[in-house]
This record gives sequence, C-alpha cells and structure tokens, in this order.
Amino acid sequence: MAFKSDIEIARAASKKPILEIGAKLGIPAEALAPYGHDKAKIGADFIHSLSDRKDGKLILVTAINPTPAGEGKTTTTVGLGDGLNRIGKQAVICVREPSLGPCFGVKGGAAGGGYAQVVPMEDINLHFTGDFHAITSAHNLLSAMIDNHIYWGNELDIDTRRISWRRVMDMNDRALRQAVISLGGVSNGFPRESGFDITVASEVMAILCLAQDLADLEKRLGDIVVAYRFDRSPVFARDLKADRAMAVLLKDAMQPNLVQTLENNPALVHGGPFANIAHGCNSVIATKAALKLGDYVVTEAGFGADLGAEKFFDIKCRKAGLRPDAAVIVATVRALKMNGGVKKDELSAENVDALVRGCANLGRHIANVRKFGVPVVVAINHFTSDTDAEVAAVKEYVSRHGAEAILCRHWAEGSAGIEDLAYKVVELAEGGQADFQPLYPDAMPLLEKIETVATKIYHAAEVTADRTVRDQLKAWEEQGYGDLPVCIAKTQYSFSTNPTLLGAPEGHVVHVREVRLSAGAGFVVAITGDIMTMPGLPRVPSAERIFLNEEGLIEGLF
Ligand code: ADP
Ligand code: MG
Repeated sequence: MAFKSDIEIARAASKKPILEIGAKLGIPAEALAPYGHDKAKIGADFIHSLSDRKDGKLILVTAINPTPAGEGKTTTTVGLGDGLNRIGKQAVICVREPSLGPCFGVKGGAAGGGYAQVVPMEDINLHFTGDFHAITSAHNLLSAMIDNHIYWGNELDIDTRRISWRRVMDMNDRALRQAVISLGGVSNGFPRESGFDITVASEVMAILCLAQDLADLEKRLGDIVVAYRFDRSPVFARDLKADRAMAVLLKDAMQPNLVQTLENNPALVHGGPFANIAHGCNSVIATKAALKLGDYVVTEAGFGADLGAEKFFDIKCRKAGLRPDAAVIVATVRALKMNGGVKKDELSAENVDALVRGCANLGRHIANVRKFGVPVVVAINHFTSDTDAEVAAVKEYVSRHGAEAILCRHWAEGSAGIEDLAYKVVELAEGGQADFQPLYPDAMPLLEKIETVATKIYHAAEVTADRTVRDQLKAWEEQGYGDLPVCIAKTQYSFSTNPTLLGAPEGHVVHVREVRLSAGAGFVVAITGDIMTMPGLPRVPSAERIFLNEEGLIEGLF
C-alpha cells in the first residue's frame, strides 16, 4: 500500500472557515482577525476578558532523545488533541510556529504528519501570518539603532568590541555567520565584526514567547542587554530608546494564531524559539488563552525531555505560573532500537534485544519527568515496520517502571487511532496526582542550578567550567540576575554532551564552555557544545525540488 505524503493529505483536507473553528471555542467573530479563510489572530481584548475563567488541564507532550529515525512529537500532540475531542473533551492544541529557512534545507515540516496535522500546512511552514518577519524586523531595528548610535557619537560609551546583539534572518545562510559590517568609508560608520543568526535564535523570539501581555513585552524588550561599556557595565535596549518602537512592530505578532487540524479541531500555532539557546515552547500567551478556552490543552516542547520538558517546566511553567497535569512521553520502536545500538538502515528488521537495551533511554525520561511531580504515560507512535513482539516488549518495560505504554496509530488513522491514549490522559489529569514543582528554587546560585540539571536530569557526575565562566556567573548574580532559571544548550541526541552516546549514559562530565545572559527573556544560557545559531543548507537543498505546479499549488515541500 502506498502512503500519501503529508502535503497530499493536507491538501485533501476539508477545512472549515476559521470563524467556525473560533465559534466552537466561543470566540466571537469580532474577536478574530482573519488572515484569509483558514487562519486568524485572536484579539488581545478578548483574551484579556477571559481572565476570570477557570483553567483547563495542561498536558505536555515530550519524547525520548531524538534520533534520525524520528519520534513524532508534533504528530502526537495534534493526534492527541483530536483524540481528546473525539472522546468528548473540548481540547485545544498549542504548538510552535515553524521556521521558514530550514524548509528549504533538509527538514520536514513542523505541522505534524500523516492524519494528524494542522492545516493549512504550507502557510504554517512558510510565511504564515508574518510573525517571524515581524520578529526579524524588531530585532534588526535594534541592531540598526546600535550602529546608528555609535555613528552619531556613541554617547553611551559602547565598547564596539563587546556588542552581543547581532542581526537575524529567517534563512539558512552560512555565509552570514560572521561578517564585518560598516565597511566602505566614513559615511558608513565604524567597521566592526558581527554576524547573523536565524530568526528563531533571536532573543526577541524568546521574549515574545514568555511575555504575558504587551506591557510585559515592552518591559522585557527594554531589559535586553545589547552590549557593554568600556567600564563593563551593561547597555540595555532601553538605553537606546529602542524598546517601544520594537513593541510597535510586534503588536500583531503577539496575538496567537488560530488554525485547525485535519479533523477541524482548534489549534493555536504561535511563536517558535530554539530549544537549545532558548526554551523551545510556543508562547505563554497562546497556552494561557487555550487554557481559558478549552478543558484540555495539549502542548509540545522541543527535542527530548532532558532539554524540552526540563525547560518547559523550569522556565515556561515556573515563570508563567503554569501547572501541568500530565505528560506524554513519545517513543518509537525505531528510535528505541537506535538507542540500543541498531544502525539506521537496519531499523526495519525485528530486534527485541536491542529494543530492550534502548528502553533505558525511555526509562530515564520517565523517572526524570516524575521529578517535577507530573504523572506520565508513554505513547508508542506506531510505524508500519513495528512488530507485535517489539510493541509488547516496550509495554512490558514501561509497566516494570510503574507507568503504562499505549500504542497509538494517529499517524495512519487520525483520532480513531489514539482513543486509548486520550482516555488514559484524562484519567491521569483528573486523578489529581499532579503536584508540579520546578527542579530547583529561584534562589539557588546559577552554577548550582546548572549542576542540579546536569546531575539530576542528565545523570552527569560533575559540571566543569573555566574561571571566566564562573566569574561571569558571579558578576550576573551581583547585578541582580541570580534568580533567573538556567537554559542549558546541549546536544539533543544524548543525555551527555557527546551526541553519539545514546541510551542512558551515567557519570559523564558536562563542560560549560560559555554563558550568555538573555536578560529580556529572563534566563541564563549555559553552552555545553557547538551550538549552531545560523544553520547552513545541505549539498542538495530541498529548495531544488520545491516549485509551483500548473495549478499554482506548491509541490516538493515535504
Ligand atoms: P517531532 O515533532 O518529534 O520533531 P514530527 O511529529 O514533526 O516530529 O514528525 C516528524 C516526521 O515524522 C513527520 O514528517 C511525520 O510525518 C513523520 N512521522 C511521524 N509519525 C510517524 C509514523 N507513525 N509513521 C511514519 N511517519 C511518521
Ligand atoms: Mg515537533
């Protein structure tokens, strides 16, 4: 049997007008600003008017460590949202907006897959409602104002060697990673080194996703540290008087985007920060609005649970006052076999021994998520190559760890294939077992916070850091940033900092190479490996195969 591609399935969707999807949630037409027929932004006043309502249940979808075999977190988030609607719950899905640039490289889409997708997927993956373009513009306005300030005399005494604010663009373009700017003579300013990051790596993206409202957005934009003076004191975006104009550019981008699933259920797709140097979750404003509108909210965090769930809990939930009721850990037989040592081209052959070895990875994520006081269920995202013996082995392993693993066929069957998981999630969320708490208190010193995550979540033996890193953390504590949570940038493939160490490694060393302050977003980034903030394109980019057909429809995208 030949499977249809994601884009073929998405194109055949029978979408409802977006006002009807909004009406399902009780959103009046005047509170929606439609972008065409199938996308709309939800108005700020309407969201504000919901504040007295009771919150629904919050369900996090996370996963084992990613492998090239693919896990399907977004697919499962969308499928579970449809599944909960199917069993009679008013469920709202909250996921991130994809980045446009990587669609032309190797990456697949980020709107789910198979029969569990949000649509219109081409729009969502490309320009969508323009949020990322607005973020790019706001970021680059600040960049332009920095160089302009220096050009006109540098009254703030900015040390041009210590400007940390770069420029951004939503494109994979390695040629721009490092650049010398202001070349060409006196009228073009003072030449200096700088470069570009991809838009999702912008602190403005993280700020937009953590801000509670427009006033909070503006405050956080003002708090951005853009550079240091010759006396090493920080220069803020506020000092350049850039914050208010940046907020103007972000006014519409702050409003959550409403779309629908293939089964016409509501989904909010809003914001998309990196999951390494940032926290990897959709916006707080979308999650909070969804909690007021639905009785269940299903949301996703990036990468595996060691990075994504940890940051969801320790950064997003801590700061926004969210209290998750249950977590779903997505695992696939294929990825577990890879964690057990099977090579990518041998994944289709049954191998229960390797699978059980690889389950160590899953077992640790189960134990880790429980450390936050959140009850867990495992979703086995079914692939056609999975055998009955393999599925039984995962179920057996998980039940020995005191949880349940449920086989889910949403990719192939839509909501009909994920009912069992939906019932289990309701049981967990309504059982009142959740007692959420972050992993460490605000008051803990920054280095100790990094050590706590490394030892308790990654099972590292110790954290090492050079004197400069330690001194920098101390200096930030003295400047009043000691209460911030930490955001660890680490490889997504392993619990360790070595991407080839799969399974459940113990006793490794986590070396912190560099620390960065995201004062506006409100976290301190600890970098433990080579983190790419501007991706490149592969030798044969998928852009070469993407085109418009005779009917004007997009071909070759996923
Ligand atoms: P994640 O959110 O974990 O990165 P996605 O849900 O985006 O993963 O899925 C990645 C890709 O894998 C998508 O193209 C999707 O169509 C595919 N995929 C997901 N689940 C399945 C499955 N059960 N069988 C086959 N392909 C799948
Ligand atoms: Mg995803």
